[in-house]
Amino acid sequence: MSRFKYCPQCASPLMSASHGDVHRLACPDPNCGYVHWDNPVPVVAAIVEHEGEIVLARNALWPPHMFALITGFLEKHDPDPAAGVLREVEEELGLRGRIAEFIGFYPFERMNQIIIAYHVVAEGTIRLNEELVEYKKLPAEQIRPWPAGTGYAVRDWLLRKGVAPLPFDRGMMRKPRNWHAIDDFVLTGGQPSAEELRSLHAIGVETVINLALSTSEYALPDERAVVEALGMNYVHIPVIWETPTLADFEQFCAAMDAAKGRTVFIHCAENKRVSSFLYLYRVLRLGLSKTEAEQDLGAVWTPEAQWLAYIEALSA
Ligand SMILES: [Zn+2]
Repeated sequence: MSRFKYCPQCASPLMSASHGDVHRLACPDPNCGYVHWDNPVPVVAAIVEHEGEIVLARNALWPPHMFALITGFLEKHDPDPAAGVLREVEEELGLRGRIAEFIGFYPFERMNQIIIAYHVVAEGTIRLNEELVEYKKLPAEQIRPWPAGTGYAVRDWLLRKGVAPLPFDRGMMRKPRNWHAIDDFVLTGGQPSAEELRSLHAIGVETVINLALSTSEYALPDERAVVEALGMNYVHIPVIWETPTLADFEQFCAAMDAAKGRTVFIHCAENKRVSSFLYLYRVLRLGLSKTEAEQDLGAVWTPEAQWLAYIEALSA
């Protein structure tokens, strides 16, 4: 999402315009013609190996206990990304490094970045610059990857080294809007981004059930393709917000029954349809008490008139 408001060439207010299939911010003045393409920004990242261990560092702006790789923006004068990552390692840790291996490219959609990740072997004495407040060193096999951004590079690197990575750290995952976990196997939320779908796959989700319409404001252009490319099952039951039907609920029950014993992520646009359907499913199919099921429903929202009527009609 771009926060640009004005044309950087002529200061006219930017407007949304269609370029091919994509809406972009553009200058309405035909004499100017500026288009805000909003291309991803290249970021270099290093798994720094120092005296046989991996260095993880905490940025001054991050919460306690949150450590990650050394990263930085590629600079205009970097001869290439490998030189850029060595410059970052020297600036941030005060270490001289050499590239041991290129790990891969990783999209970081939320930040509109493309991460270029390397394994860097470094020597010297660690001296943090002002961006970092603390660091820790761990043997590779003790690193718990995180399901976002550079965490995927860590996981791939460990696998390539023949080290079985520890499970992803759920605590460090970026969760979809209106997130609510019923238990370890039934996870719910509003519309996830493609990056959040990758995170859900990383923490073990096998089936994604979507109750939103593909025309919903937050919908992904082709959610099925994204989900299936990650190797997860995708079930789409478009439920019209104004007129949920009994057939919708029956399809939902069939999808939930089929996913039994697997980790499932169920979403709609804002988790309102999902929490209502799940309430009904747990009461009617699983025999949960209404009081217990209401706690999870109430944690997401208080259903408004037509949904209350729907819930009462089905659960009466
Ligand atoms: Zn302009």
